[in-house]
Amino acid sequence: MFDGIAKILYNMSMNHYVDKSILPYQTGQIAAYELQVRTCRDCPLALTRTQAVCGNRRYQGDIMLLGEAPGAAEDRLGRPFAGAAGKLLRQFLAESQIAEERLYIGNTVKCRPVKPGKRPGTWSNRPPAPGEITACRRHLQTELALVRPKLIVTLGAVPLSCFTQDKPQMSQYHGKPFIAGERAVFPLYHPAAVMYNPGLRQAYEEDMRALVRYIQEEII
Ligand code: SF4
Repeated sequence: MFDGIAKILYNMSMNHYVDKSILPYQTGQIAAYELQVRTCRDCPLALTRTQAVCGNRRYQGDIMLLGEAPGAAEDRLGRPFAGAAGKLLRQFLAESQIAEERLYIGNTVKCRPVKPGKRPGTWSNRPPAPGEITACRRHLQTELALVRPKLIVTLGAVPLSCFTQDKPQMSQYHGKPFIAGERAVFPLYHPAAVMYNPGLRQAYEEDMRALVRYIQEEII
């Protein structure tokens, strides 16, 4: 009964890419998960979001790219990495020739964190606060159980902090894979960091090459 209702809701909410290879029983689980995220009010970000943003629905991807949180474009469009940082990320991915079908792209926190903008009545992006990351952790855990990635590529310090014991410094972690529990984790800078600091571009490109080697040697 629940599975049937969840399937209907899932089909109703379809407006972009759907992974055709998902099994029927998974469809119900995915629908239930996405409904939980979209209706969640577990932290104050529910008060300012336009909509919660789920992953890109490639639930058979063996590589998960995990960002920080939705920005303005994602909040408006309901898709992860829909803005300028996403464009740069896709450019790096195209150059690295990692097949897009292998990638599940999502965020650590599912709703846009905002602060008052410079002009009255506007909002700007900000990093998610520790309490917001903790509140959203249950959704990430469900997502990890559904996608079951062989490799998690963290984009920035926020997703990386979910897999380390310390408060990670990107300058120490970037480009160095490690094992966290049963999962391989490969830390990259967030593409937005490369946009705001072009000096990171060379390191980012080297890290992408290291990522491709790591996938070829350890993940395939
Ligand atoms: S950020 Fe996460 S915990 Fe907070 S309201 Fe959105 S989905 Fe819920």
